[in-house]
Amino acid sequence: MYEGVVQDLIDELGRLPGVGPKSAQRIAFHLLQADPTDVRRLADVLVEVKAKVKFCSICFNVSEDEQCRICRDPRRDPSVLCVVEEYKDVVAIERTREFRGRYHVLGGAISPIDGIGPDQLRIRELMQRLADGTIVETILATDPNLEGEATATYLTRMLKPLGLRVTRLASGLPVGGDLEYADEVTLGRAFAGRRSADD
Ligand SMILES: [Zn+2]
Repeated sequence: MYEGVVQDLIDELGRLPGVGPKSAQRIAFHLLQADPTDVRRLADVLVEVKAKVKFCSICFNVSEDEQCRICRDPRRDPSVLCVVEEYKDVVAIERTREFRGRYHVLGGAISPIDGIGPDQLRIRELMQRLADGTIVETILATDPNLEGEATATYLTRMLKPLGLRVTRLASGLPVGGDLEYADEVTLGRAFAGRRSADD
């Protein structure tokens, strides 16, 4: 245990995802020894990102405006919707240049252990988007792990009765990982080879 504000810094860093107590300590000491200008820049960007960046009111992608760049783009196909867990998945899929439709960001995956059920995700908002019949295909691009599979299965059951085409990414993605860890070629192939989702 350290004194006052140093311990506060270690505690705050330790709350970040993937940062254990040892890493938190290492980052804290790095910051203590770093150039004040560098630390200031980090602090400024943290404040700025929270002030500036919002979520798109349509797809919940990260956006600096009311609607994100993709939702505002008239060249994007409004009839195909790709459902992903997180904003970083949008980035990963955009990198493949394989998809020209729009997105819906759920904000996570169903995970009973973490207390995350369908109500904690933006599934109600998804159903509202599908209501007017513009969207004819929904691609479920959840992560290839247990939570992602559970989420896709749940969504398939919800969406199939609406008469939509519901598809999943082709297999071949590294199982157990995040979508973002797949390389562009693999992810692009999984997209092109998407198949109808089973109930
Ligand atoms: Zn959007």
